Amino acid sequence: MTERERIYLFDTTLRDGQQTPGIDFSVEDKIAIANMLDHFGIDYVEGGYPGANPTDTAFFAKKRTGRAKMTAFGMTKRAGVSASNDPGLTALIASESDAVCLVAKSWDYHVEVALGITNDQNLECIAESVAAVADAGKEAMVDCEHFFDGYKANRSYALACAKTAHEAGARWVVLCDTNGGTQPDEIAEIIADVIASGIPGAALGIHAHNDTGQAVANSLAAVKAGVRQVQGTLNGIGERCGNANIITLAATLALKERYNSRYELGIDAEGLTDLTGLSHGFDELLNRAPDPQLPYVGASAFATKAGIHASALLKDPRTYEHVDPSRVGNTRKVMVSDQGGKSNFINELKRRGIVVSKDDPRLDKLITIVKEREASGYAYEGADASFELLALRELGSVPDFFHVESFRVMVERRYDSHGRVKSVSEAVVKLEIDERRVMSVSEGDGPVNALDKALRKDLGKFQNEIADLKLADYKVRILNGGTEAITRVLIESIDDDGVRWWTVGVSENIIDASFQALMDSVTFKLMKNRKLAGRAAAE
Ligand SMILES: [Zn+2]
Repeated sequence: MTERERIYLFDTTLRDGQQTPGIDFSVEDKIAIANMLDHFGIDYVEGGYPGANPTDTAFFAKKRTGRAKMTAFGMTKRAGVSASNDPGLTALIASESDAVCLVAKSWDYHVEVALGITNDQNLECIAESVAAVADAGKEAMVDCEHFFDGYKANRSYALACAKTAHEAGARWVVLCDTNGGTQPDEIAEIIADVIASGIPGAALGIHAHNDTGQAVANSLAAVKAGVRQVQGTLNGIGERCGNANIITLAATLALKERYNSRYELGIDAEGLTDLTGLSHGFDELLNRAPDPQLPYVGASAFATKAGIHASALLKDPRTYEHVDPSRVGNTRKVMVSDQGGKSNFINELKRRGIVVSKDDPRLDKLITIVKEREASGYAYEGADASFELLALRELGSVPDFFHVESFRVMVERRYDSHGRVKSVSEAVVKLEIDERRVMSVSEGDGPVNALDKALRKDLGKFQNEIADLKLADYKVRILNGGTEAITRVLIESIDDDGVRWWTVGVSENIIDASFQALMDSVTFKLMKNRKLAGRAAAE
């Protein structure tokens, strides 16, 4: 094989990703994310703006050991002062960073309107700031903001900005599609012109936003056109529609022949198997449920539902998969559904350690029950744990851990002494555990929360076992609206082993549906603790 060229991955989750609505990293979050990125093999980690905000200053002050180059982000110096007299630039250079990324205007309209200086003054700011960073012994790079729009408005000025940065000693000149509207073929054409104007591709980077859904495509077009540094964020977070998803980029560059035959990353085949864990670990830290449809790493990325696809898939996975899921640490999933045939069921049960022969009459009964229940609103492909419990009840046995005699929920809306509306929910659950009757009462932030608290308040000898059970997500869906509407509730649970499982409940009554899903969740947890269930969930 001919010598492959190195592509450098630059992650800006901690800087540009922080612009995402609802996301605000603490110093501890930033350290944890930087370690995850470093461990994975990302080349550059952009940490934020040291000197400009306290969290980022504290983050950069932490000593760290790792291979990734920690990169500080900030502005070029202001016009009219020398680089050494610009406090922002000085703080940036003084920070504990390996590299400094300076953002520079490259669209003449922005130079005039936002900075209020002349085009030549802007070029001088770029040159002097880059020189100051390089003189301090740090790797300098320049983000040419609005580069592609600037190029279209004034080609020669945009090129002059990039060239000035390169000639002043910037290791990387990063071309930014700041507004995210540029198309892949434009990216390729413009980068070809930049390279023809004298900046080698080995010194160029791409920073793409996803406003037309093409941030990854634009980044790949840029690689093909010659750039050697690619910027992105974990799971594509970022303001508006997000940045290029660095997870998708890493997988595509590493696994697709048209890229991996020519380029290599700082991540080997073994490292790439951490990809799914990295994506989910990041969502975990953000306390949000992972998107099941993310390329490569989503729970549905290698899932199939249709019967004929599933049986072909079992014969030869390549028939319906573009890559082997194990290469990115994901797993193939053939889902239980009303379209699935018998072989589907047997395989799904096998994955859970439940062995049943093809002509066992209990299997036919289970299939009938699943189909009936799915017709009445249950969705087992989204509720793995409830499916497993149902199968175990039909084929094996689920111990009677406890018995619920009855429950009652009351919701009261009243005014407090200041005349403000207050809503109070209270639940009473009557249980029987080991022939002992237990009655628990609890208040909650809503009827379901009160019910959950009451159910789990006193489970007798099982109480310690469910101490680490937490509800991570709760989804309600109203099926076939109108007066006969049915409610489906899906609950996601998690415990200290980091295992997640979904349970389902269906009823005309939302509280009853929630209660079914809660009961399944607790029972599944007790089964899992005894290693009687949860094999597939722990994979
Ligand atoms: Zn950006």
